[in-house]
Amino acid sequence: MPNRNKPIIAIDGPAGSGKSTIARLTADRLGFIYINTGAMYRALAWKLLKENISLNDKNRIVMIARSVDIQLGRENKSTKYFVDGVDVSRKLFTPAVGKSASLISKMREVREIMVEKQRHTGFKGGFVLEGRDIGTVVFSDAEYKFFLDASVDERACRRYKELKEKGENVNLGKLCEEIKLRDREDFTREHSPLKKADDAIYMDTTGMSINEVLKMILGYIKTKARDL
Ligand code: C5P
Repeated sequence: MPNRNKPIIAIDGPAGSGKSTIARLTADRLGFIYINTGAMYRALAWKLLKENISLNDKNRIVMIARSVDIQLGRENKSTKYFVDGVDVSRKLFTPAVGKSASLISKMREVREIMVEKQRHTGFKGGFVLEGRDIGTVVFSDAEYKFFLDASVDERACRRYKELKEKGENVNLGKLCEEIKLRDREDFTREHSPLKKADDAIYMDTTGMSINEVLKMILGYIKTKARDL
């Protein structure tokens, strides 16, 4: 194991593949800390939108990326996100913030700063990190790597249900198009495009329940681990 007390579990995959739910449950089961790296890009995007910073103003974006304080915490089993001390948990997961996060995540300098923050947080181990580049870039030496996938239709349906449950007015066809667009951007961007790490376990979760996916992941970890 690299120089850390506990392992790192990396969960990557495209939008709507169930990474967040599975990563959170995996962390809970193992007593690890869960980090949603997409939420970190969203937190930065939220701050830029709030301060009316143009998403073309790369210099200012990079400056703010360096100085912004992004903290994650747990409260009553839910994850809380703080930007410069302000609780923004309910503001990050809107389509507008997601769109801006997607744009800024293409910038090499922004990625470098975010990756540094993520490494700094997780270096001692005992973390489940989910995102797009955890197994390939952030912790390419992670002890356990999973790449979750599902068909576009299934991912759109999952997002649809999730947003409906939150009381949002959504359209399934539109969500499907958004997921396709996000895939195109994630898989083809110049810096750290989304791709499965060579040593990651690929899981097509189409038609699988959350419990089935969780069971497979925990089962795999338990058969390989002596140190958990
Ligand atoms: O996962 P989520 O959709 O919340 O991520 C928000 C945006 O941040 C996405 O557009 C995604 O491409 C980007 N992202 C990234 N690298 C990560 C996590 C998310 O580029 N490790």
